[in-house]
Amino acid sequence: MALKYRPGLADRPSYEMDENPYQITLNANESTLNMPPMVEDRLMGRFASVAFNRYPGVTDYMNLIEQIAKNFNVGTNQVLLGNGSSEIIEKVFYCFGNAKTSKIVYPQPSFSMYGIYAAAAEAQGIPVDLEDDYTFDAEKFVKTVVDNKAALAVVCNPNNPTGTGIPLSDIQYIADNIPMSTVFLVDEAYIEFYGQSAMGLLKDYPNMIIARTFSKAYGLASCRVGYAIASPEITDMIGKSFMPYHMNTLSLVTADVVYQMRSEYVPRIQMTIAERKRVYEDLKKVNGLTVYPSETNFVLFRTEKAEALTKAFEAASIGVRHFGSAPRLENCLRISMGTREENDTWLKVLKDFMGGQS
Ligand SMILES: *Cc1c(COP(=O)(O)O)cnc(C)c1O
Repeated sequence: MALKYRPGLADRPSYEMDENPYQITLNANESTLNMPPMVEDRLMGRFASVAFNRYPGVTDYMNLIEQIAKNFNVGTNQVLLGNGSSEIIEKVFYCFGNAKTSKIVYPQPSFSMYGIYAAAAEAQGIPVDLEDDYTFDAEKFVKTVVDNKAALAVVCNPNNPTGTGIPLSDIQYIADNIPMSTVFLVDEAYIEFYGQSAMGLLKDYPNMIIARTFSKAYGLASCRVGYAIASPEITDMIGKSFMPYHMNTLSLVTADVVYQMRSEYVPRIQMTIAERKRVYEDLKKVNGLTVYPSETNFVLFRTEKAEALTKAFEAASIGVRHFGSAPRLENCLRISMGTREENDTWLKVLKDFMGGQS
């Protein structure tokens, strides 16, 4: 069949998902813990009054938007909700892309979807290499943005999949030194594990967009809810690109309850940070392996034996993320933090494997 697909679509990579049923699933940076029982209790009460026959209503959106606006001390017209922050990020790329004349700059390695969204928006994606230790060179990034007169500059802070954080002073340096005609998107999907948010800079930079998600720290990956905060002009323009009723009522209600009760999540975020630090120190002692400092809920490390080690994990029913031949991620594995017990389980598999081979 010669169907007339959009040019370039056939060559576009599909997002790789590993759907194997593992006993311990640590391959997608999800929270290992399900919803706290107190949150679930309140949620079940709210579900009882959902009008399943109706499209999501304005109040379903506004309940959550008002909470977020209040928390960050911004107007409700500065908050945009999305079907996961993925939807918002994809729309930002779309809104600042156009037939191959616009350029979008982002770090590499970083979230693999940036390149895919740039291609989908028919913009030219321009990756800027991180340093060999995966730290971020803000001057190099700014120069690339300026030289290319980019429509959009994107950073992921802290960065997936390297785990590395960009200091807030570097985010400010970028904001100060790129033209106001370039939009600056800061993807803060993992910010709860880092703390150095750019949220305080928003009021000074009307070209800045900050994207966040409920999928990671708030353990709500199933619901697909994210949000962005930006100037009213930007949220209004991006909002035009959404389809009608792009969020569903069940997810909106769930995120509303989770956000109301977000203090319930503080102990688990702290547990995850403590585990990340413990695991990092432990991995540093393993021969034949380089572990990178992380500010997220996962760690990335490199070893010549990455592929065989992934198989050893699979044999133990542990799912991790192996990056195969992705640019600058050769021989790298990324493992999301589990509970202390889960982490001890995979650490033992790793140490037995690394120790047993030489
Ligand atoms: C997980 C993630 C997101 C967003 O995920 P959603 O589930 O779509 O909200 C965005 N950016 C990065 C870098 C991520 O890792």
